[in-house]
Amino acid sequence: MKASPITPTIPLDVDGIHHGFLKLPYSRDDSAWGSIMIPITVIKNGDGPTALLTGANHGDEYEGPVALQELTVTLQREDITGRVIIVPAFNYPAYCAGTRTSPIDKGNMNRSFPGRPDGTPTEKVADYFQRVLVPMADVVFDFHSGGKTLDFVPFAAAHLLEDKAQEAACVALMQAFNAPYSVMLLEIDNVGMYDTAVEDMGKVFGSTELGGGGSATAKSIAIAKKGIRNVLIHAGILQGDLQLDPTVNIDMPDGECFVFSQDYGLFEPMVDLGDTVAKDDVVARVWPVARTGIPPIDYTAKISGLVICRHFPGLIKAGDCAAVIGIDIK
Ligand SMILES: [Zn+2]
Repeated sequence: MKASPITPTIPLDVDGIHHGFLKLPYSRDDSAWGSIMIPITVIKNGDGPTALLTGANHGDEYEGPVALQELTVTLQREDITGRVIIVPAFNYPAYCAGTRTSPIDKGNMNRSFPGRPDGTPTEKVADYFQRVLVPMADVVFDFHSGGKTLDFVPFAAAHLLEDKAQEAACVALMQAFNAPYSVMLLEIDNVGMYDTAVEDMGKVFGSTELGGGGSATAKSIAIAKKGIRNVLIHAGILQGDLQLDPTVNIDMPDGECFVFSQDYGLFEPMVDLGDTVAKDDVVARVWPVARTGIPPIDYTAKISGLVICRHFPGLIKAGDCAAVIGIDIK
């Protein structure tokens, strides 16, 4: 396969703190010989495990970028053993535009793996992670939130995996991150996801959904900051004690967890994040937009549990996720 066109402007394997860029050539109207400059920090101190940390895989999710930016200015070389690779804005063009996908090529980073060295800019970044950065890592952590269209209770996540030893290591990482909720996450379609690519390489992988709505809160950012320090301590890279608070363990056994809208209209949530619902409870109603005097369409929970996700904007379309119900397994 072709070599990646991406080159780091800093060494990835030299002791010390290096701040620089992943330089992706991108010729365009406003810069004939220009490049996309993706910020990266590598902190290395001797031999030890490597952690690869990413935020803004989707460009409108902010807890990860804030926590990781802070880590690039607070983490000291002498505090660690091994290496920490920090990319606060994985899909940098999307992050700069405040959108989920890249404005350049509409690339959704989390549906672009394994990527292509001769593909779109988003595919080239995915390929660089697939073939260069992820293979260097022992532990990989990727921050997500709901973006502009979803909102979540703050949780760290792990997936069911065929390799049960790897699954146990990922669950331990999720528990070390120690968000208020810990979810065994069922993906709607995991093809092309970074998660799947990293897990298929046998790595210990963790991720989050820490909030949403296209912004972040002091509380959700504090969860991200505490969690990522815990991840580095758990990985044996950072010295210090884990800060552990109570977490609610949630399972998503099957597709019955999801409530999808089949209508376009005005969205009325009937329950809020963290609320308990029983099977057949109405979780949302969709009102007509264009006329009065017509009753709403009810959407009900197919299982009993906790509301862990909701549609965020005031209007909803057919096919949108209205809510997700998880099962409390505390
Ligand atoms: Zn995301």
